[in-house]
Amino acid sequence: MGEVLVLVDHVDGQVRKPALELLTLARRIGEPSAVVLGAGDAAAAIAAKAAEYGAAKVYTADGAEFADYLVVPKVDALTQIARAADPAAILVTSSGEGKEIAARTALRLESGIITDAVDVVAGESGPVAVQSVFAASFQVSSRVSRGVPVITVKPNAVGPEPAPAAGAVESVSVEFSAGAAGTRVVARTPRVSSGRPELTEAAIVVSGGRGVGAAEGFGVVEELADALGAAVGASRAAVDAGWYPHTNQVGQTGKQVSPQLYIANGISGAIQHRAGMQTSKTIVAVNKDPEAPIFDLVDFGVVGDLFQVLPQLTAEIKAR
Ligand code: FAD
Repeated sequence: MGEVLVLVDHVDGQVRKPALELLTLARRIGEPSAVVLGAGDAAAAIAAKAAEYGAAKVYTADGAEFADYLVVPKVDALTQIARAADPAAILVTSSGEGKEIAARTALRLESGIITDAVDVVAGESGPVAVQSVFAASFQVSSRVSRGVPVITVKPNAVGPEPAPAAGAVESVSVEFSAGAAGTRVVARTPRVSSGRPELTEAAIVVSGGRGVGAAEGFGVVEELADALGAAVGASRAAVDAGWYPHTNQVGQTGKQVSPQLYIANGISGAIQHRAGMQTSKTIVAVNKDPEAPIFDLVDFGVVGDLFQVLPQLTAEIKAR
């Protein structure tokens, strides 16, 4: 089995959950190697976590340039590692930054890129990426036909599972000199945290639409989300009405989410909303209209007023 490079996404010294999912997925198609860039003092702890999830080798590169510049130093380092390792594939999280790093790396390696995969499986001629397209109406299987495949994978494509038996880990410290980067970071402003999981990474998303009726209506949605440890999403109608921030919009012109459980409340199920959530593993809808199109795609549907259903559901979950 060939080596599979996994770019390990980390923040504040912690490995992000999608990176653990990538390591889990990489074990199915080859032998995972973690690439840990710009982690500073946290590099050893991040490497240990990657090993727990099956990394047999951990490449680390460090330097001030990772914090001072946007993606270019990461592309430089990943390309350098890939050229030396000649891996069977490179897996990167399908985030905004991940996709930019992946695209630039594929270009440097003169290979090909497949973005937003929902699965990656071993094929006779190399890894095959599965994408969900046209608002999840079709699944497309494709592979890169030249060079090292660079594949970005959506969060929640697989559940993160520690390796059954973690073996010895080889550590490779990469001597690295960044090329010229055109953009310098001048300030970082942390977003005000809601204390809830990041929308695109959350295992559970509870969303509200026009049916919540007002900004205050999101209270019942948030209470259910907090009882479940979930992120809160919103339809564009709710966002356009000013009831919830655009950063929480799910859909074609919002975020793409693929959680284990998606609960749509007061959302009709327009194609543009479905485009952002249809690959969710289990979909539940609460809507007072039994003819609402959302009921065509749900696993479980509740016909009822969300202001009656959600508080009961929240109370039941809290009681358990
Ligand atoms: P509605 O369609 O008005 O549905 C509200 C639902 O709430 C109804 O089904 C109703 O029965 C139900 N309801 C009302 N009261 C209650 C209650 N008390 N209890 C239970 N149910 C109740 N939309 C997105 O969401 N995301 C996008 O990214 C997006 N991008 C778009 C891009 C383009 C180019 C265009 C043209 C549109 C886009 N839209 C997007 C808009 C999309 O077409 C729909 O207009 C939108 O999704 C509707 O939002 P909604 O379901 O909340 O509202």
